[in-house]
Amino acid sequence: MAVGVFELFSVGIGPSSSHTVGPMRAGAVFARELRERGFLEHVASLRVDLYGSLAATGHGHGTFTAVLLGLEGFEPEEILPEQVEERLASIAETGKLSLAGKVELPYSVEEMVLHPLTVLPRHTNGMKFQVFGAPGPDGSAAVLHEATFFSVGGGFIVREGEEDTAQKELDESKKELPFPFRTAAELLGRCSSKGLSISDIMLVNEKASRSEEEIREGLLHIWAVMEACVESSLKREGLLPGGLKVRRRAPDWHERLLKEDKDRDAKYWQEWVNLIALAVNEENASGGRVVTAPTNGAAGIIPAVLYYALNYAPGMDKATQEDKDEVVVKFLLAAGAVGVLYKEQASISGAEVGCQGEVGSASSMAAAGLAEVMGGTPGQVENAAEIAMEHNLGLTCDPIGGLVQVPCIERNAIAAAKAINAAKMALWGDGTHRVSLDEVIVTMRETGKDMSHKYKETAMGGLAVNVVEC
Ligand code: SF4
Repeated sequence: MAVGVFELFSVGIGPSSSHTVGPMRAGAVFARELRERGFLEHVASLRVDLYGSLAATGHGHGTFTAVLLGLEGFEPEEILPEQVEERLASIAETGKLSLAGKVELPYSVEEMVLHPLTVLPRHTNGMKFQVFGAPGPDGSAAVLHEATFFSVGGGFIVREGEEDTAQKELDESKKELPFPFRTAAELLGRCSSKGLSISDIMLVNEKASRSEEEIREGLLHIWAVMEACVESSLKREGLLPGGLKVRRRAPDWHERLLKEDKDRDAKYWQEWVNLIALAVNEENASGGRVVTAPTNGAAGIIPAVLYYALNYAPGMDKATQEDKDEVVVKFLLAAGAVGVLYKEQASISGAEVGCQGEVGSASSMAAAGLAEVMGGTPGQVENAAEIAMEHNLGLTCDPIGGLVQVPCIERNAIAAAKAINAAKMALWGDGTHRVSLDEVIVTMRETGKDMSHKYKETAMGGLAVNVVEC
């Protein structure tokens, strides 16, 4: 299926789309196959191999436990944070997982085979699952079923051997779209020939797979999950999990803002935007429910900028609920259109291109969304997206302890501010500009290729090695 707004904004659990959501999804696919192909009752043992970045930073990112939950049959969109805690406690206590929710199998996280220095050809986030039958007289056991998956960013997974098929299916499905586009130039061309905005083009394409009402409801639901994520985060206090001793700041900041900014003075916009970004990313860091936007590590930027659009954009003080819903829908559609460009031409995976692909892409998408709802022309919206990414180029991924906390949480707040500034700068221009969004996207991809692997979600460089963990 062609990448659309609901693939870019999907509901999952923290802390990482590529290291938590993708691996859980892969485990669930494998478990479903075991069930559907009738292997389950013959399974006697299981082997899980993790490669590259998944092995290097999987502990801090919750990859190992996400794989276990996936193998139990849980899907990231549906699992509740309470279920995560309950099942992991049970596995730890009994030393058994419930394969596909049906067969009790002795297995624990410690048995996973880690290959942090081995990168499989397709992508650094590789994982291989194998199940075996009962051993014969010589002690050897036959492989009943096996599969290798890659978690390629934003919760998307690709299966080994099916990369070409998946690409062909994607190309085929794009043909069914009324206005297919791969580059910003093509997108702008569509806008200009049809006299439509960027969000209109995206809406028409989305209507190829669902009704307009479903699209609107789906996008409003995405925003509702973002809001619920903030609300839940503001109720939690204390330290984030993982042992880094990072204190949650959002609840205190919220309390302070409620006291200092009783009248919702516009001079506090930055503090509110910071608060939303921090709240979402603190919730993500504690394994809560978040919307990948387009990844978990960068999940706070789009909600923070959309919050700005709803509360501080000109005219919003008089907006009705209907107007606000319209802003949400248009914002997410325009941001989604820009997300498609990154997915098509580069990558949204920190393990593949560094943090520029996660936080940079989210900042660029958010800038586009904001420029769109503030009345930008397609050229100005494209300019906003370009400015935001241009000033995130080269951003490395070096989370301390492999935890999605430092620098990730604050980085979302900074990137939200960049997105707002990018949109404002673009709106003060006429849409013409020297560097195109396509040129910046290609530059991001090439910069990512040249970046040392130390700075691509391995916790082997940068802050991850220069800050003492204690
Ligand atoms: S540094 Fe950026 S890419 Fe890396 S985990 Fe944090 S948010 Fe994700």
